[in-house]
Amino acid sequence: MAAKIAGNLEGCNVSIIVQQLQGAYERGQLKNALYQYWAQQVPKIFFTSAEVAISTQRTPDAVQSEEKLSRDVLFEPLEWFLCGGNPAAVFQQLQSLNNPPQLCGKVFKVGEPTYSCRDCCADPTCVFCIECFNKSTHKTHRYRMSTSGGGGYCDCGDVEAWKQDPWCDIHKQGLGQQSQNPIEKLPPDIAARAWEVLKIALQYAVDMLLWEQMGGLPQDLEPSVPQNTYVTMLFNDEIHTYEQVINALTKAINCESKEAVEFATVVDREGRSSVRYGNRKSCDEARTVIQKSTSSVRSKPLKVEVMHTSVCAHQAFAQKVLNWLGQVVNHSDGLRHILCTTALQQPPTGDPCVVERLMLADTALWKTARVQCHQIMMGSLLMDQESKKQFSVLYTRNYPQVQKDFMADDHDHGVSIISLSVQIFTVPTLARYLIMEHDLLAIVIRTFLDQCASCRHGRYLLDREKLQKNFRRLQFPLLDLKYVLSMVPDQWNDQLKRKFLNGFKIMVELLTSMQGMDSVTRQVGQHIEMEPEWESAFNLQIKLAPAVAMMAGWCATDKMVLIDAFRIVVKALLEIRGTADTVKMCKRRVCDQEAIVVDYTVSREPVSIHLPICRLLAGLYLQLGKHGLTFNSPELYGPLDWTSPQARLSRASEIAHRASACPTPLVLARSQPPSAMDLLEQPLRTLVMIAQVHAEMWKRNGYSLFHQVYYYHNVRCRAEMQDKDIIMLQVACAQMDPNQFLIALLNKFELMNWIEGDFDDFIRLFFYGRRRDVTEKGGSATDVSAESTRDLLRFTNSLVEEFLTFLIIITGERYVPGIGQVSSEDMVRREVIHQLCISPMAHSELSKALPENNNYETGLEGVVHSVASFKKPGVTGMGRYELKPEFYKDYNPFFYHYTRADQSKSEEAQLKRKKQEGESTACPPPELPALSKEFSSLVNVLECDVFVHTIRMVLRRVNSSRSRSWTEAMVHRALHLVGMALNEEKRLYQTSPYIRFNFVKKATEGGSNSLYSALHDLLGKPRIQNHADLLTWVIDRFDEVKDLKDQKQGASDAQKAKKVSSKSKTDAERKKKAEAARKRREKILAQMSDMQKSFIRDNLELFEATGTELSSSPSMEVEGSPMVVPSQYPVAVGPDRSPATHVTLTTSTCILCQEDQEVAAGNKCVVLAAYVQRSTALSKSRGKVLEDPDKYDPLLVSPDLYHGVHTSTCGHVMHADCWQRFYEAIVAREQRRALRFRHILSYEVDRGEFLCPLCETLSNTVIPILPPSSTIQPDSVSADISLSFSDWLDGLKKTVEASQRAMMKEEEDKMESSDDMPVLSPCPLPSITKNMAEMAAQGFQQLFEYMTETGAQAPYSDSVKEMMKLFSRATYTFGLGLDPNDDDDRVPITAWGTCAYTIRTLEWLLRDQGKPLFGSLSSRQADCITALVRVVTVSGSLSDPQTISKSALRLLSALLPQEPMKNIPCILDLDMFFTLVFLHVTISSLYCDENTAAGGTIRGVALNDKHLMHLVTAAHLVQILLAANFTSADTPMDTEETAEGSAWVKLFMAVRKEAGVQTPVVPSGWQLQTYVRESVLPFLRCSALFFHCHTGVQSPAQLQESGVSEFEPLCQYLALPADLSSLLLQNSGADVGHVVPHTIHSKWCHYPGIKESLASGPASLVKYPVEVNRLVPLPHDYSDVINRGSVFTCPRSDGDDSRAPTMCLVCGQMLCSQSYCCQTDLEGEPVGACTAHIYTCGAGVGIFLRVRECQILLLTGKTKGCFYPSPYLDDYGEHDQGLRRGNPLYLCQERYRKLQKLWLSHSIPEEVVHFMEANASFATIEWQHL
Ligand SMILES: [Zn+2]
Ligand SMILES: [Zn+2]
Ligand SMILES: [Zn+2]
Ligand SMILES: [Zn+2]
Ligand SMILES: [Zn+2]
Ligand SMILES: [Zn+2]
Ligand SMILES: [Zn+2]
Repeated sequence: MAAKIAGNLEGCNVSIIVQQLQGAYERGQLKNALYQYWAQQVPKIFFTSAEVAISTQRTPDAVQSEEKLSRDVLFEPLEWFLCGGNPAAVFQQLQSLNNPPQLCGKVFKVGEPTYSCRDCCADPTCVFCIECFNKSTHKTHRYRMSTSGGGGYCDCGDVEAWKQDPWCDIHKQGLGQQSQNPIEKLPPDIAARAWEVLKIALQYAVDMLLWEQMGGLPQDLEPSVPQNTYVTMLFNDEIHTYEQVINALTKAINCESKEAVEFATVVDREGRSSVRYGNRKSCDEARTVIQKSTSSVRSKPLKVEVMHTSVCAHQAFAQKVLNWLGQVVNHSDGLRHILCTTALQQPPTGDPCVVERLMLADTALWKTARVQCHQIMMGSLLMDQESKKQFSVLYTRNYPQVQKDFMADDHDHGVSIISLSVQIFTVPTLARYLIMEHDLLAIVIRTFLDQCASCRHGRYLLDREKLQKNFRRLQFPLLDLKYVLSMVPDQWNDQLKRKFLNGFKIMVELLTSMQGMDSVTRQVGQHIEMEPEWESAFNLQIKLAPAVAMMAGWCATDKMVLIDAFRIVVKALLEIRGTADTVKMCKRRVCDQEAIVVDYTVSREPVSIHLPICRLLAGLYLQLGKHGLTFNSPELYGPLDWTSPQARLSRASEIAHRASACPTPLVLARSQPPSAMDLLEQPLRTLVMIAQVHAEMWKRNGYSLFHQVYYYHNVRCRAEMQDKDIIMLQVACAQMDPNQFLIALLNKFELMNWIEGDFDDFIRLFFYGRRRDVTEKGGSATDVSAESTRDLLRFTNSLVEEFLTFLIIITGERYVPGIGQVSSEDMVRREVIHQLCISPMAHSELSKALPENNNYETGLEGVVHSVASFKKPGVTGMGRYELKPEFYKDYNPFFYHYTRADQSKSEEAQLKRKKQEGESTACPPPELPALSKEFSSLVNVLECDVFVHTIRMVLRRVNSSRSRSWTEAMVHRALHLVGMALNEEKRLYQTSPYIRFNFVKKATEGGSNSLYSALHDLLGKPRIQNHADLLTWVIDRFDEVKDLKDQKQGASDAQKAKKVSSKSKTDAERKKKAEAARKRREKILAQMSDMQKSFIRDNLELFEATGTELSSSPSMEVEGSPMVVPSQYPVAVGPDRSPATHVTLTTSTCILCQEDQEVAAGNKCVVLAAYVQRSTALSKSRGKVLEDPDKYDPLLVSPDLYHGVHTSTCGHVMHADCWQRFYEAIVAREQRRALRFRHILSYEVDRGEFLCPLCETLSNTVIPILPPSSTIQPDSVSADISLSFSDWLDGLKKTVEASQRAMMKEEEDKMESSDDMPVLSPCPLPSITKNMAEMAAQGFQQLFEYMTETGAQAPYSDSVKEMMKLFSRATYTFGLGLDPNDDDDRVPITAWGTCAYTIRTLEWLLRDQGKPLFGSLSSRQADCITALVRVVTVSGSLSDPQTISKSALRLLSALLPQEPMKNIPCILDLDMFFTLVFLHVTISSLYCDENTAAGGTIRGVALNDKHLMHLVTAAHLVQILLAANFTSADTPMDTEETAEGSAWVKLFMAVRKEAGVQTPVVPSGWQLQTYVRESVLPFLRCSALFFHCHTGVQSPAQLQESGVSEFEPLCQYLALPADLSSLLLQNSGADVGHVVPHTIHSKWCHYPGIKESLASGPASLVKYPVEVNRLVPLPHDYSDVINRGSVFTCPRSDGDDSRAPTMCLVCGQMLCSQSYCCQTDLEGEPVGACTAHIYTCGAGVGIFLRVRECQILLLTGKTKGCFYPSPYLDDYGEHDQGLRRGNPLYLCQERYRKLQKLWLSHSIPEEVVHFMEANASFATIEWQHL
């Protein structure tokens, strides 16, 4: 097809076209010529046939040819014409004319790392790309790392984005260049043509993209030969799900669901896709079906259009033109400037310019077209300073319309033009210019207001429904507002002031509409019926708060702006309050003080939590002081009185402006200051309501109110809610007489009854039913008729507590700059101190508890080190900050940001600490900073009459035995308040010479009725026991202050001595107690630590796995137990082996029936729960998959161990029959459960899985526990057999020969059925021995014959046998993934294999951790291999003897090869440890025949073992020598070679010569000896583990320590000579008996396959020593990982970004996870890339790093998985899931090693299941789609 098109275009010679264009250009007809050309060519290239038109049928070839054609035919001529020569050369030349770039401007792709400097950024949207960042100084600052969501560009070089060092080293080079108009630098002819070409191309592209008639083209593009083909175009929306689209498509175009998925993917990615190609009718039909099947009551149908192919073709070309333009202007600043000018030029017709058209049509375009438009805007307009300004003006002008379009659209914010806001509004100069010249502030706020509210009678009403449904879309103007306001102007001018205030006024309108929102009335009697919606108001509040705070910040910088803003807000407040008529006032009296208060009962009338106007006023109020203003300054209300003439002048001009420009003139007329009562009323109502909520009076109002109260106080909202309300109350309090203030408070708290002296009588009367008209007294707390007295009392007591707390807050919360004399650091420091008084905290916990400013900064780092010390984390957990001890004195239990839980937690913690330190348990009020001048009268509350009266009354009631109206909490608060008053008086005495604060005086007045004596009366009262220490402290402090006062007044201090003595007495007593307590504690601690140490020593690893039930572990491991230590060196192999040190296995307790059971062969069988899994962890050929399990030979195992079967156990013991009953019950339960009710289990019953009934570890079978073989078969019997190694070898060799001969003869006999594999059958023993020397024959006979004799009675019970079979079956079915088949000969072999594989794994694990071979396995690991080895070693005698015998023969024919056989590999392809284990199991049955009964044993096991050990080791040595690959030869240290060394050299040369391999480098003897010893070590270690488990012989002491040379102890333990070369070469003087003769070497080296293996080079051979596999190395810095992820593209959708790049930690491959594009089929089910990968890489188990989320993903099987914290930590020792905090992250090696261990120990499935059991949410994730 491609060829045909190319054929059509033949003759399209570029130079001819260029000539034609040149001609037309000269005639002024360039546009016509180009359009004609395009009209002709474009439809021939794009959308020419179904193959090219239908997205999913596009082959890479078709795409490529389209690309190439459009390049050759369309763009090439255009470039030649534009450049007037070779484009490549010309563009290069133009590039050299550019000024070196000062701006980076790199546009980010999704997932690319971005960096922001927290010290220097102007706002958090300012970012660097990684290249710039690495070359900048900010690398050493506090930076934040994040990944881009796509869009946006690097701000390097933008002087407004950074407070310092805006340039990286690269872009610094662009500095100091003269900026000349870039167009002037262009050659004039090119410039002239560029004006034309760029204009026509841009015009064309935009016209075509916005073309609306789908049936045909504009006239000048109509082709000469019209076609009649159409496509059905399907568009994306964000409403329909993937599934719905796929469903519709399968119906409409009748395609496979796989194809539909591809369509849906394209639609999602590109925004549209053609799904059908054909004539109009068929396309229409498809459209109808799709629309029908996707429309529903709730949603519009999917957008589908039938389009003429020529329209599609031109649109496709138009997109390419846009890209092309982007590339062209990238070459040259001049060309860019031309393009920008063209784009912004308004046509003479008066129509909008191109940019404006695109802006307004944004939502009409599909996804990719939009993105391309935005990209070209960013690449051209925003890179050119002047154009950027013009663009931003256009953008501002169209802002309301663009927002409106966005509201109606359904696409994400990221693909909308409004996402460009951030590029414009965050530039401070630009933002300021737009505010001044184009009224940006007003436009943005008005846009928002218009979208969410309607205006009625001059007041805005918020549209709840819109807020609720569309807030996600609505909120963007608020975000823009934040950008615009982010930089506070340092200079104001009249215009800026005017425009700012204009915006401010609209903001106040908006806030006015929110004031009093969602008000609630207390529900009495019945619970509310419907929870009212509350979230939308809070959403609005949260998004609006920063902007409001910033506006207040702007106001603060200029006195006149502040004054005007203040007036605007006051006016709004007074309007809200209404006139005096609507506010009811009344009189209240408390102890001779009278006050007029607002009559409004919170518990009966509506109250709202939203008071933004009051809060704005509070914010502004705090700024007044900066400009020397006070609340009553006449400037704020009175006529103008400007002292400076300049101010007067600008003021006058302002008034003039206002008169003309503002629609409604601002209030300038004289106004009254609002009364303190006006300020107080609203916030007080809210606070009282919250107090009542805390007192549980609003319970019937439901959760909605509860949530609101929660957020009101929460760190996210409190700065602009609770804190501002408190400030407002403090403002009011500072203005008022303290007595009146308190009466107003008491009244609002509805405590007027309580404050009366006879309240208790009142309650009592009431309680006995004698009702009285309580309401008469006014301000009754509750509706008496409805509520019981009990409630009344309870509510009142709680309210009093709240009231007292409230007083503590009002007078004590001074850590706000403006209220107290503090800095903002002091404020943060105090927050930190109080958080740390709760408990030590991690950095992230602390940050979360602190409010963030607009730059997401909390100021934490600046202060935390001054108050806390950092404790580093261990392998788990996080690093934590601990408060330095000297700051505990600043603790205030009534800190206003504490929740109730925080409060009690902190008190508990402090109490505990103080008791430990032996301090007084009092937490007295901390000493406070001085108040600012404005607020200095606040403290007067603490000494006014009403206060003293109130406190005295509380204390008196406590003291009165009859009173019911007191609580402990009340006393606590009252004492605290007294302490505060005393502190205050003390502070004042110390700082000022003259004070009027007279608390002490007032508190001592009245003699025995005074507050002071009320305090004394409480001393020693049991009622206040919990606060006794505080009381003592208060009295002490009282006396201290009194003395101060007396001193001041020159009075005598006679009483002093007495007081001090009483004080010191109590002190001494306390100290004594404390000392005793300390000693006691130390003793306990010492005991504890001893216990802990021994516990850890005993149970180091066991603890994590076996939980608490240590007793039920069978502990078969003998290490460490106090047993008879043999005096001789232990030997585990051969007839001379040391006696077993196993005591017969002790009894185990069944975890199910709790009965003890002795393990013995004939007893009831006990089993261990076990998990069998396939594994590739040890694979040296990563990615090699077990292709066909049916053909797999588990007997002759390849040394690359590409596939293995691993077994593990949790170590819990059950009776076999108990377990069977348990398991059957599970299965039955699952079967009974109807399918739809089946909850998702973490284990799959139909795969035989269950959880250990005790520890819930995943299991899928059981291993029977057998007694050690020594208890069944006494060793002594074999001792008298004598058979030399060479005779033994000779006999076996003969056996192999004879069997091979027999087989070949048989084969010849039945030529016809040659399909069958030739089967080796063993020949009878006599036929071998008859050819041997007599002595040898006798020995050989003895060695093997017993097999046939003692078969009579098998020692094992049936149940043991059954369990053994069950276990073998499990290894076969789970290990090979086959259906159970007991007849398969491979069933027992896979069980032996899992034993060898598990031992190999454990050897690796120990090696990886540098632990000694013996004594460091956990008891579950030790139990596991011991049980496995015992099962395996007896399995040889319990299976069908003939099968075993055949296996033995096959193994021997590989080890002692005679004639080459096709299914017997060479020794290089054989794992020797597996071979050793298998031969050990099978060799005894070598000579059995049909007549041999199963279950027999032979005597010669021990001797066989020894000979086998020698033979297999020898073979392994040859293997090692052959695989050696020396690249350089060492010169030996000393000239003298050891005998062993030279023997190795000799052998090395010999075997390699024999095998015919080149040996370019001959190593030295020493070098070779070291190599051999190292290489053979893993094999020896595994063998030692195996024989240790098998025989129970004590392990040598050397092997229980780490760091010692293991080689010689191992050889000795395994009965091998220390000089292993003597196994292969007869040295003079060495043991003659155990040499493998040269004839056998020769056979090994000549065996077919050896040559090929060796010739293919060292890469394909397993290298010795076999190294431990590790997870892939990870970079130290996480940004390198992010970067790696960002350059990774989805392998299946040509070059697109992957949404969830995920790295396999086993092989390092990057995958495109969690995405439809990379789904594949696995066993007929669609699975994601990760799941697909684990089946090739990890045998169904995988460990991944999710790059974007920075978390570990563990997967096992298709349905199970979990997320896990990543090993990357920040400086605070915390990981950052989802990169939310953005601190720099570095790899923690320890944690990575922990993951490595998890993986290598095969614990992933177990870990996943534990996690899934613990986290219900994990069960709902569809892991297979990841
Ligand atoms: Zn950059
Ligand atoms: Zn840079
Ligand atoms: Zn910096
Ligand atoms: Zn039991
Ligand atoms: Zn268990
Ligand atoms: Zn992998
Ligand atoms: Zn993909």
